[in-house]
Amino acid sequence: MVIRENCVVSIHYTLTDKDGDVLDSSEGKEPLHYLHGASNIIPGLEKELTGKEPGDQLSVIVNPEEGYGKRQQQLVQQVPLAAFDGVDQVAAGMQFQAETDNGTMHVIVTDVSDDTVTVDGNHPLAGETLHFDVSVEKVREATEEEVAHGHPHEGSQAH
Ligand code: ZN
Repeated sequence: MVIRENCVVSIHYTLTDKDGDVLDSSEGKEPLHYLHGASNIIPGLEKELTGKEPGDQLSVIVNPEEGYGKRQQQLVQQVPLAAFDGVDQVAAGMQFQAETDNGTMHVIVTDVSDDTVTVDGNHPLAGETLHFDVSVEKVREATEEEVAHGHPHEGSQAH
């Protein structure tokens, strides 16, 4: 069957950046299962998969607007080191959940000075143009429960 709303789709994919470096891949792993039309995957990829069927292969270029968004400078913030009370040693690359006015935010430490920590709340792939090589493995009708939950119950994703 062809991919349309409320199908559970299984794909293998390789994600590369504009330089051809591999960022993520399902190669050698279980395929990615998602519920089509439920925003389980980024809009630019979901759109291109509509109407495809098992056996189809596609190459998709996704702009930041239809991927993980543009980088937002206001999500880069300086926080006093004292706010990290209880953390032994704050270092670049560490990830934290931060409570903000807009709810919980996932941030990555990008710089640490004597008394100030710079954190970045942008998605690591924000601002990136993404290249996906995708092969469609399987397409099936979603169950009522899957549609109600907004995600597939396939492989290890039953919940
Ligand atoms: Zn569920």
